Amino acid sequence: MKILYVASEAGPFIRTGGLGDVAGALPKELNALGNDTRVIIPFYKEEIKEAYRNTLKYIGSTYVDLGWRRQYAGVFTAVVDGVIYYLIDNEYYFKRRGLYGHFDDAERFAFFSKAVLEVMPLIEFYPDILHCNDWHTALTPVFLDVFYRWGQEYQNIRTMFTIHNIEFQGKYGKEVMGDILGLPDWAQSLVMYQDCVNFMKGGIESAEAVTTVSETYAKEIMDPFYSYGLQSILGQRSYKIFGVVNGIDNTVYNPETDKALFKNFSVKSLKNRVENKKGICEMVNLPYSDGTPLMAMITRLTEQKGLDLVLAVLDEILAADIQIVILGTGDWKYENALQAFEQRYPTKFRLIRAFNMDIASKLYAGSDMFLMPSKFEPCGLSQIIAMRYGSVPIVRETGGLKDTVEPYNPEKGTGVGFTFKTYNSYDMLDAIWRAYGTYMNFKDDWKKVQTNGLKKDYGWKNSAKKYLEIYKNL
Ligand code: ADP
Repeated sequence: MKILYVASEAGPFIRTGGLGDVAGALPKELNALGNDTRVIIPFYKEEIKEAYRNTLKYIGSTYVDLGWRRQYAGVFTAVVDGVIYYLIDNEYYFKRRGLYGHFDDAERFAFFSKAVLEVMPLIEFYPDILHCNDWHTALTPVFLDVFYRWGQEYQNIRTMFTIHNIEFQGKYGKEVMGDILGLPDWAQSLVMYQDCVNFMKGGIESAEAVTTVSETYAKEIMDPFYSYGLQSILGQRSYKIFGVVNGIDNTVYNPETDKALFKNFSVKSLKNRVENKKGICEMVNLPYSDGTPLMAMITRLTEQKGLDLVLAVLDEILAADIQIVILGTGDWKYENALQAFEQRYPTKFRLIRAFNMDIASKLYAGSDMFLMPSKFEPCGLSQIIAMRYGSVPIVRETGGLKDTVEPYNPEKGTGVGFTFKTYNSYDMLDAIWRAYGTYMNFKDDWKKVQTNGLKKDYGWKNSAKKYLEIYKNL
C-alpha cells in the first residue's frame, strides 16, 4: 500500500513529544511489512538540527490558496532508514522558534494541512491511505473532500485520523472560517462545533476511520470525563473509532546499547543495573543504600500526569525507607511544591528541573520503581520505556497504562507492574505499598515482575499490523 503519514512533527527530524516518536517509528515498521510509507511534516527551519537540515534536497514549489491568500509552499525531501520524508517550506509560517503556541497557529496548520494535498502532483505520490494526526493536520481530510476530490488522482484516497491527545482540539473563533479556511457554506458544518471552529471535529467527521493510541482510551473518550466536550460527536461515530496501542522503537530504547547509561545491561546481566542506581544517586547527591528502593517519575509536570495525587501523600511515602527522583518541567505550581520537598527531605528526594533525554535514560535504568498515576493517558510511552529498562511501573488503570501494564499476580507469577483504579491519592498509596512490600520482603517476586517487564516485546510490529488491517478495510 502507498501510505502518506501526515504529522506536525516526526523523529528524527523534530520531536517534542509522543507524536514525534510515533511518526518516527511507525512508518519504518509499515515499510518493513512491505508498504511504501512516506512522511510529510512542516519544515521548521529554526528548530530542525543542522545535521538533518543538511541532508535535505529541494524538489520544487507550488502555491496554496488559503481564503484570500496565495502562499508559497516549497518541498524538500530526505530518506532516513528507508523512509522518504517530505518537508513543507514556508519561512513566514515555519521559520520561527518553537513549533506551537504562536498567535496564528490556526493559519499555520491550515496552510500545512492544505499544502499536503497541493504538493501531491509535485512529489508524484498519490497515496492509497492518507493518515493524519492530531488537530494540526485534522483539516486535511476536510480539504480533500471539499476542494480536491474532483481530481481523478484524488478520488481513491482513503483517510484516517489519529487522536494522540483529545485535550488539544484546535478551537478558534468563527472569523477563521472565511478568512483562513475558505470553506463554502455547505461545508462549514463539518468544522463548526459549539459555536467555534474546531479542527479536530472536522477530522473526526471527515476521516473514514478514527483511531486513538490505545484501546482503553478509545472507549474512555466516549465519556465526558475524558472527552473534553467531544463525546457526542464521537458517540455518533463509534462505528469507525478504533484503538491501536503505540509501541517504542526497540533500537532507540535498548539498555544493552544505550550510550547514556552508566553501565549497559540485559535481562541476563541484571546485576549490572545497580551501577546505574549508584550513578544516579551520586549524580543528584543522594546517599546510596543497598536495600532502599529508588522510585522515579519522568514527566511533564502537569495536572494530566497525576501530580496532585503525588503531592497529597508525598510526606507519607517519604516516611518509609524510600528515595524519590523526579525529572521534569512544567507548571510552576508543581515545580515550586516539589522543590519545597527537596529542602525538607535532603537525603530522600530530588527534583531535576530539566528536559534531558540523557538523564532520563540513566534514571529509567537506575530506578527500581516508576510512578505514573495519570488522570488520563492516551497511551503513554514512559511506562513502556521504564519496563524496557527494568524499572517496575506503578500506574493508574487508565488509557494506555491499563493496556500496557498488566498487574502482578503473585500466585501465577504473571504481570509487569502494580496498578490502582480510582483517581485518588490513597488508592495510589495502596499500590505504592504493594510495590514497596514486594521489594522489601519478597525478593523473588520482585525479580519476577521486573524480568516479566524486561522480557516483553514493546516493538511496533503488532501495532503496525493492526493499522494495516484497518487501512485494508477502508
Ligand atoms: P506525553 O507525550 O504525554 O508527555 P508520554 O509518556 O507519551 O507522555 O511520552 C513522554 C516522553 O517524553 C517519554 O519518552 C519520556 O521519557 C520523555 N520525557 C518526559 N519528560 C522528560 C524530561 N523531563 N526529560 C527527558 N525526557 C522526558
